[in-house]
Amino acid sequence: MKFHSFLIKYGEIGIKGKNRYMFEDALVRQIRYALKEVDGEFSVRKTHGRVYVDCEGDYDYEETVEGLSRVFGIVGICPVVRLANTGFEQLKQDIVAYVEERYPKKDQTFKVEARRSNKHYPLNSMEINCALGEAVLEAFPEMKVDVHTPDILLNVEVREEIYVYSEIIPGPGGMPVGTNGSAMLLLSGGIDSPVAGYMTAKRGVALEATYFHAPPYTSERAKEKVVDLAKQVASYAGPIKLHVVNFTDIQLYIYEKCPHEELTIIMRRYMMKIAEHFARQNGCLGLITGESIGQVASQTMQSLAATNAVCTFPVYRPLIGFDKREIVEIAQKIDTYETSIQPFEDCCTIFVAKHPVTRPDLGRIEKSELNLREKIDELVKTAVETAEILQIH
Ligand code: ATP
Ligand code: MG
Repeated sequence: MKFHSFLIKYGEIGIKGKNRYMFEDALVRQIRYALKEVDGEFSVRKTHGRVYVDCEGDYDYEETVEGLSRVFGIVGICPVVRLANTGFEQLKQDIVAYVEERYPKKDQTFKVEARRSNKHYPLNSMEINCALGEAVLEAFPEMKVDVHTPDILLNVEVREEIYVYSEIIPGPGGMPVGTNGSAMLLLSGGIDSPVAGYMTAKRGVALEATYFHAPPYTSERAKEKVVDLAKQVASYAGPIKLHVVNFTDIQLYIYEKCPHEELTIIMRRYMMKIAEHFARQNGCLGLITGESIGQVASQTMQSLAATNAVCTFPVYRPLIGFDKREIVEIAQKIDTYETSIQPFEDCCTIFVAKHPVTRPDLGRIEKSELNLREKIDELVKTAVETAEILQIH
């Protein structure tokens, strides 16, 4: 069946007045972005408090739906057949033809739901419902009307043209990216941080990202893996500015000067500081990590507190209460899992201690860091200044 448009349903609760325009404008912008790479020509428009995607000429239906189902803020995608308004007799025939083609299996219940924004139309909504219902019953006697829970809800909207749709493909929900500021994601090559980025973007937050690597201890392939993950997250979140930080000298220095069981925590604290620097520089409103309570030694409540202590920005940890199994499920759903499990070294796993502290004491950690005072500021400054910036689309 050839669909000419998609009606975009979005969650409207709590978006009134000025917020509503912001929400809709961001939604339109994100839809355009999501369809950029899709085969076909599309125009996205706002009318009568609704958002439509019109498909000009030929287009790839599957790809279009796939693109739209990545746009946060969309709760439903309705493929629409648009009919010329050439009289009610013609409409009856067109509706029968629609049902004929769309629903080969006829032993189903249905209901017609007409809406009329064109008040000059000769019939009112109720009359349209009855007359079209009758026409369908006449053509397909095996069908039955059910006004409460129909299998098929035939929506007929009378405007200058007539819009017919009966299917709602679920969208991802959430809020359009760009309606809630931006935040800095600490993106590693693991399973968790891409999921954390996805979940924050789902609430309308645009993303930037920081990745720490340690060449030559970590390879170019490890970095490419992170770029791939950033691309996958960007397919939902929109463009991401990725800061790639060379962390080698800082890590080596910590390794040389600090107790090895504290390495991971101290490294994490410097990661946070550097990520926060970029966040501040770029107008982000918070940091995001993929941490979840108790997952590893560096994510116990004590470790999280020690890491958090260096931040002045709020740190968002959307996976805080998730089990690994639940995180993996989302990673599979959003298609980052296969990339995440590729076996490349991460800077944290290279300098890891055999027995890391699980209950770090903040006072002791701060004392250990005093051993770094001679060179650390200079090393951090260099790491920040030499960071490579990649625009991920
Ligand atoms: P992930 O799967 O996200 O790597 P993880 O289970 O491996 O998480 P850790 O290695 O303890 O957990 O990392 C905790 C969080 O710290 C990560 O979710 C990420 O936000 C951040 N992080 C860790 N390593 C890096 C890195 N090399 N670059 C940027 N951020 C990192
Ligand atoms: Mg990791």
